[in-house]
Amino acid sequence: MTTVAGVNGATLEEFREILLAWGETHRRIYPWRELQFRTPYAVAIAELMLRRTRADQVRPVFSDFIRRYPTLESAACADEFNLKAVLHPLGLTWRIENIVSFVKTAYARFGNDLQADRDILLSMPGVGEYVSEAVLCFTSTQQGVLIDTNVVRVLGRYFGLDYSGEARRRKTFRTLAREIAITNDCANYHYSLLDFAASICRAKSPYCEACPLQSTGRCSYYLTIKSASTKSL
Ligand code: SF4
Repeated sequence: MTTVAGVNGATLEEFREILLAWGETHRRIYPWRELQFRTPYAVAIAELMLRRTRADQVRPVFSDFIRRYPTLESAACADEFNLKAVLHPLGLTWRIENIVSFVKTAYARFGNDLQADRDILLSMPGVGEYVSEAVLCFTSTQQGVLIDTNVVRVLGRYFGLDYSGEARRRKTFRTLAREIAITNDCANYHYSLLDFAASICRAKSPYCEACPLQSTGRCSYYLTIKSASTKSL
């Protein structure tokens, strides 16, 4: 049966299962991925920190922040000057203000009981679609779907779709990403996909020779460059 973009369900499942298997031995370890920190509060803080900032830069700041402020209450009731000082190494003043505003608003509305609920999360200061989907993905059994330029690049290359410009907003990508992400292991699938995009299907020079998806013979990008190099011989 054909689903979206002419791709059938078995092919989507194959893509997901290969990435999950690759992730078993390649997923990166970050503090916000530890089970003890997979709460709506901690995941939201990590994702707000990760906006426009590399994970390696976020790692020490997140660890320090969550050690000092292990609960929403402890962050919301903290001295604002101290809170901002902990966030200072991240840079981006607007982001620091967003995080402070997020903890204060979330605590004022829900105390220590912030839930992984899409509408609630989207109503919080600084929380957009990506952060709210990440909280759903990484903290609960609800399905969340992460779509950013990296995810769109991998899907576009593999399934032969134009991923230029604002492709992440196009319905084709959104439907495709959502259908692939239908799994009981939503968190590990997305961790694997994000790490795969960063280390194998990189923006510049994808590492196709080490790619576990290459052996399916279905990667449109790889088939195109292989065919071009064969013709040039
Ligand atoms: Fe990306 Fe290359 Fe793998 Fe295709 S074969 S998914 S282009 S790394």
